[in-house]
Amino acid sequence: LVIPNWKTFVTDMKYHFQQVEPLQDGENASYIPILKSADSEKWALSICSIDGQRVSLGHDQAYLFPHTLQSVSKPVTYAMALHREGEAFMEEWIDVEPAGRPFNTQDLDPETQRPFNASINSGAIMAAGILASGFSPAANWKDIVDNVRKTWYELCGNDLDIGFSDITFESEKETAYNNFAIAYNLKGRKGLPRNVDLHTMLDVYLGCCSIEITTEALSVAAATLANGGICPITGKEVFPASVVRTVLSEIMMCGMYNQAGHFAVEVGLPAKSGVSGALMVIVPNVFGFATFSPRLNTKGNSVRGVAFCRRLVDSYRVHVFETL
Ligand code: GLN
Repeated sequence: LVIPNWKTFVTDMKYHFQQVEPLQDGENASYIPILKSADSEKWALSICSIDGQRVSLGHDQAYLFPHTLQSVSKPVTYAMALHREGEAFMEEWIDVEPAGRPFNTQDLDPETQRPFNASINSGAIMAAGILASGFSPAANWKDIVDNVRKTWYELCGNDLDIGFSDITFESEKETAYNNFAIAYNLKGRKGLPRNVDLHTMLDVYLGCCSIEITTEALSVAAATLANGGICPITGKEVFPASVVRTVLSEIMMCGMYNQAGHFAVEVGLPAKSGVSGALMVIVPNVFGFATFSPRLNTKGNSVRGVAFCRRLVDSYRVHVFETL
């Protein structure tokens, strides 16, 4: 067993989970009604080890509450595009450098006109475009998003709770002025890969953000990434280890946006957050976990989620540079 003393581990995790619960700082995302009106008190944690030991915590089974992936979708869309297109093609269109800017920045790398990385909106929109560009012209955005959903289903150990929130998708579209601006900026500067249709690209991006998941399922996806792409529940290889290696490096540097530097120092684990309050964290070769709590800090990361990560590394030696 990769975590031999599972019972003690679970007891400790429960303690930290409870210690974090009283935190009231931060605010729900407010740009669309469904996120603004989400129950701010919900607090869920699920853990899955690479050998399939699992635990979930939260009042009223909050870990089974379906919420959207939002930006937690980004590393998987990127991984799918990378898997199909290879490193060289991806590099041509999206860099792998920390942006040091908010997730919704319009800025592109001034020298190459590329998005800085696939974790900020510009890079994730481009990754959605690359993914879409590989489908037949007859495929519409929904076919492509269904394909992404299927990959999430496999990452989560064939979890049937992977859904889609039409309400989220519709309101995202209504309010996506900034994302439209990013897309036009991408098209106007370097152009789009294989001249993919701009609206399809945006719909795929917003569709991926609108995929619904539970904290429990998300922890299995995190464990699959912690396990080099092989799902601990089904034993199926969802991504090759080389793709996972690139994606984990990328989210280690960029996944928490302009808090990524501090998160790397304080927590030292690859992680990806979303404006729904979801957070997915990978402890390479050991376990993955997911948290859900809608209140966000000023960088767009879940306050309780980040606080839990800090407590975890204070009590377990899981920071990737802890054992040097
Ligand atoms: N749908 C959001 C957006 O595009 C996702 C951003 C996020 O989760 N940080 O603005």
